[in-house]
Amino acid sequence: MSHARPATRRGAQLAAALWSSLLWVLVLAPRDARGQPPAYDLLLAGGTVIDGTGAPRRVADVAIVGDRIVAVAPGLARARAKRVVDVTGQVVAPGFWDNHAHLVTLPEHPLAENFVRQGITTILAPLHSQAQPFPMDAYRARVRMAPNVGLFAGHTWIRTRVMGLENRAPTAAELAWMRALVDSSMAQGALGLSTGLEYVPAAYASVDEVAALAEVAARYGGIYVTHLRDEGPGVLDAIRETLEVGRRARMPVQVNHLKVTGAAQWGWSGRILALLDSARAAGQAVAVDVYPYTAYSTYSDLMFPPWVLADGAEAFARRVADPATRARLVQEMRVRFPQQAGDTPASVQFREVASDPALGGKTLADYLSARGRPLTIEAAVEALITLQLAGGFIGIFHGMDERDVEAFLRAPGTMVETDGDLVTFGKGHPHPRSYGSFPRVLARQVRERGVLSLEAAVQRMTSVPAQWLGVRDRGTLAAGQHADVVVLNATTVADRATYVVPHQWPVGVSMVAVNGTVVFEGDAMTGALPGAFLARGRAP
Ligand SMILES: [Zn+2]
Repeated sequence: MSHARPATRRGAQLAAALWSSLLWVLVLAPRDARGQPPAYDLLLAGGTVIDGTGAPRRVADVAIVGDRIVAVAPGLARARAKRVVDVTGQVVAPGFWDNHAHLVTLPEHPLAENFVRQGITTILAPLHSQAQPFPMDAYRARVRMAPNVGLFAGHTWIRTRVMGLENRAPTAAELAWMRALVDSSMAQGALGLSTGLEYVPAAYASVDEVAALAEVAARYGGIYVTHLRDEGPGVLDAIRETLEVGRRARMPVQVNHLKVTGAAQWGWSGRILALLDSARAAGQAVAVDVYPYTAYSTYSDLMFPPWVLADGAEAFARRVADPATRARLVQEMRVRFPQQAGDTPASVQFREVASDPALGGKTLADYLSARGRPLTIEAAVEALITLQLAGGFIGIFHGMDERDVEAFLRAPGTMVETDGDLVTFGKGHPHPRSYGSFPRVLARQVRERGVLSLEAAVQRMTSVPAQWLGVRDRGTLAAGQHADVVVLNATTVADRATYVVPHQWPVGVSMVAVNGTVVFEGDAMTGALPGAFLARGRAP
């Protein structure tokens, strides 16, 4: 009996507590639906989630609060979201990572619309041939943009700043200055060192020079990213050189826009992939990325041997004016033409010709026909020299074989990129890759040709590059990740831009969010600029 009262009292207290809780539930529940602060800022409801890890698709809701994903699960409470978007029947995936694009004009094109409309939320900007922002700190403080952006220390900019366009090795003092500029860029957040060894003046750099600069980036945990010295007949040696830089500087290496150009080399993808595999088997960290087109785009310089372009336009004109030098040049260029482009003048298409803008979109065959010249490689070489003397051009070079492109895309771990530019809709004659690379992979390689499953393609566009760069809080759809998200229709997503009519938006992407903020929806950019500059994720 002596125990009964306390027990009863405890029972009464428990009952009171239960009543009280029940009352709170009764009081709170309706109010929560009526206007308590919502639990989610955005709920993407009922979509088919492809989470970027390679896991099979599943139906689930994706809930976002602020800049983060907070839940990925079926049946999340719609009543608790500030905004619900029903995405039933559509794919919800992490935003895509473009491994290489040209962002020199980012301050003038902060929306990066031609990238974002492809579902891209993060753009890496290794600066093969272009100026790098410097000081990077000031640039990062000043520039706002829709997608996330990763910057690199650019060898071409650094070498030009120290040595101009001179065709020689740096002195010890010049090399020290170049190393200091790499060091400064890395200290300001660069993700690694990038080179464009096919271009002047980087083409004049030896592997020793590149390795000496790469070592500085390696100390910070940076990676080495390269546009190979040669993507044509010398592509295997160029890859060997890249691997050597990685070994000497003890750092991961990445080949941007892996390809094999020139009709003479078509079919070499097997040898290239075998070389990469043997390096990986030997313990090297090697990554590659690809854009899904059989034409590349670059300066007309590429059709010329580097020695003739040394020291700029005036020096080029002087050399060409000398009959013996010109004869040697013509002879080399006849061999070089099918090694770089295709095997006919029609394989070179003009993109931007400052001296004659009307040529945009036409081919070298059109150019020769209009002047009553024969459609031969010899005539094409003479025309290239004439055009170079007038300032050169940016061209589209139809010089790859789709079987090689797909072999590279199919290889395990290959990532995707655009190699695109920030374009103004309707202006100029850009390569269609600027508008269509990612939707093209999803349409052509995934849906039509079955080269990759949709899950595998999304993985290569998202978590594979994030992991490669050591970025842990992006690249998948999971609670805690930054809310970089794309919504698309897997049965209709496609590129529409062509070499003839490049200014066409892709179709099938209906929403893109960066850091939780919607930047593209329906058929329009929202104008929001929530992009962040990526921080290095790899440990030194
Ligand atoms: Zn490049």
